[in-house]
Amino acid sequence: MRITVWILGDQLLEDHVALDYAKGYGDHEHIRVLMIESRKQTSRLPHQRKKLVLLFSAMRHYAEKLRQNGIEVDYRSANTTTDALEAHLADFQPDLLVTMSASTYAGRRFQRNLQQRFQTRMILLPNTMFLVELFNPYPDPQAGKRYVMENFYREMRRHHRILLDDSDQPIGGIWNFDQDNRKPLPRSVVPPEPLTFPPDKLTQQVMQAVAALDNHVGTADGFALAVTHDDAELALQDFINHRLANFGTYEDAMSAQHHVLFHSVLSPYVNIGLLTPMQMVEAALRAYEAGSAPINAVEGFIRQIIGWREYIYWQYWRQMPALQDANGWHGTRTMPRMFWDADTPMNCVHHVVKRLIDTGYTHHIERLMVICNFCLLADVDPGEVADWFLTFYVDAYEWVVYPNVIGMGMNADGGQTATKPYIASANYIHKMSDYCGDCPFDPKQRIGERACPFNYLYWNFIIEHEAMLRSNPRLGKNVLGLRHLDAHERERVQEQAQDFLNGLELYESVRQKRRLTLK
Ligand code: FAD
Ligand code: SF4
Repeated sequence: MRITVWILGDQLLEDHVALDYAKGYGDHEHIRVLMIESRKQTSRLPHQRKKLVLLFSAMRHYAEKLRQNGIEVDYRSANTTTDALEAHLADFQPDLLVTMSASTYAGRRFQRNLQQRFQTRMILLPNTMFLVELFNPYPDPQAGKRYVMENFYREMRRHHRILLDDSDQPIGGIWNFDQDNRKPLPRSVVPPEPLTFPPDKLTQQVMQAVAALDNHVGTADGFALAVTHDDAELALQDFINHRLANFGTYEDAMSAQHHVLFHSVLSPYVNIGLLTPMQMVEAALRAYEAGSAPINAVEGFIRQIIGWREYIYWQYWRQMPALQDANGWHGTRTMPRMFWDADTPMNCVHHVVKRLIDTGYTHHIERLMVICNFCLLADVDPGEVADWFLTFYVDAYEWVVYPNVIGMGMNADGGQTATKPYIASANYIHKMSDYCGDCPFDPKQRIGERACPFNYLYWNFIIEHEAMLRSNPRLGKNVLGLRHLDAHERERVQEQAQDFLNGLELYESVRQKRRLTLK
């Protein structure tokens, strides 16, 4: 029996379920692994060059490792995945094609259609990259019902018996230590730099090839991410040893000096299978048991993984395909040009975007409270924001971008992912960062020449959507703030917001371009 195991580029698991399945039929001699680099896949949208290097280099290292373990690999570069599959099936004529279900809606639909298209028998296995595929707290979600991440997270903790005492109560007495977290970074605290990985010969070849590709963003230069399981494990240990203990406390802090702070920067790895969610959780639990990290940090980190990450994936499957076009606040603008070139006097936006262009990474709060906050207040179309995220971030894939950006950041899905829009005036950024000190705008002024745009845009948004916001119990406080603005001030806020938005230079629509390439 000749078996082809097709391994997708974002499913580079050390223990791959499709490979295990094939091995069940006998020895290696009958198994051939197929891996595909598809040009169409990477040209639908511009991509962060460092993401392309990460993906292609990790895939090629993975193929190398399989070969060293005596498994034959057919590694193909082709115009499309279909071309590569057709050529592979013609060349090798396998009796069986085994693969793992894709993490994205379009990918899974493509896999299902293949079964009708080709004569070869195909086995589509469950996706083991996510815990929620194996245990789902809400297998039959009700239409229209709101599900809250916190409850989902507790179910996951109970099921996997994580941080529970002998009577099934949360260790430390509470489920969530957020009240101990979310502090700004004091000047005296200097976060350690994360471990970097100098590119080996294979990665250097990929860097050269990616540097020569047109129409992408960022640069391959300076690529220093892990591309193997062993190095990803070193990156995990580096985080556990040097940053986990302060993870919770400074989780929401932003800094112009330090871009990673105490975050893990592990999303690029776990999203392509170089790490697994449980591997990350178990490493944090070991640190807690060894007494090297406090409960607020360990619980906070674990909540990100078995709580937020899994909940986001669950929301993606629950809401697709409607989610990709959701536009609850009716945003119409394309992305402002400053998000493509970092050219803006708004110091927070400048720093975050500049860093993103250079590295492909910014941490969670910058994604939510600087980028999405601005885009929601400035009526940007959520689909445009999502495609911009897919373009610039090194860890971006549709399953994670759509619910985080369209659902949470832009609150465009009718409150399914997050029960309130994350909107804030400059006060929040001022409190949590050092950006405002060096900014020509004043975070305390609501109107006037030096007023921070976040302020008048925020109040303009509240005035425009007052009725809708009032109906959300979690936002009553924000709307109540309107009492402090008299009629004249309201008018001036709206005028200044309109002038600002009319003068905002916009970039071309990426979504429209993508639609054309999909036709
Ligand atoms: P840490 O802060 O160290 O957190 C640990 C891990 O928790 C992360 O590595 C990640 O795997 C997981 N995690 C935490 N929150 C989330 C979440 N909301 N969704 C999924 N995983 C989560 N994450 C991506 O992986 N890719 C994206 O393209 C992406 N886009 C985002 C866009 C917006 C608007 C928002 C609000 C969040 C987005 N996130 C995305 C989630 C989160 O911001 C990143 O996972 C995190 O910043 C990655 O950095 P880190 O590894 O240092 O995370
Ligand atoms: Fe950003 Fe406004 Fe602060 Fe400037 S003043 S850094 S624009 S929040």
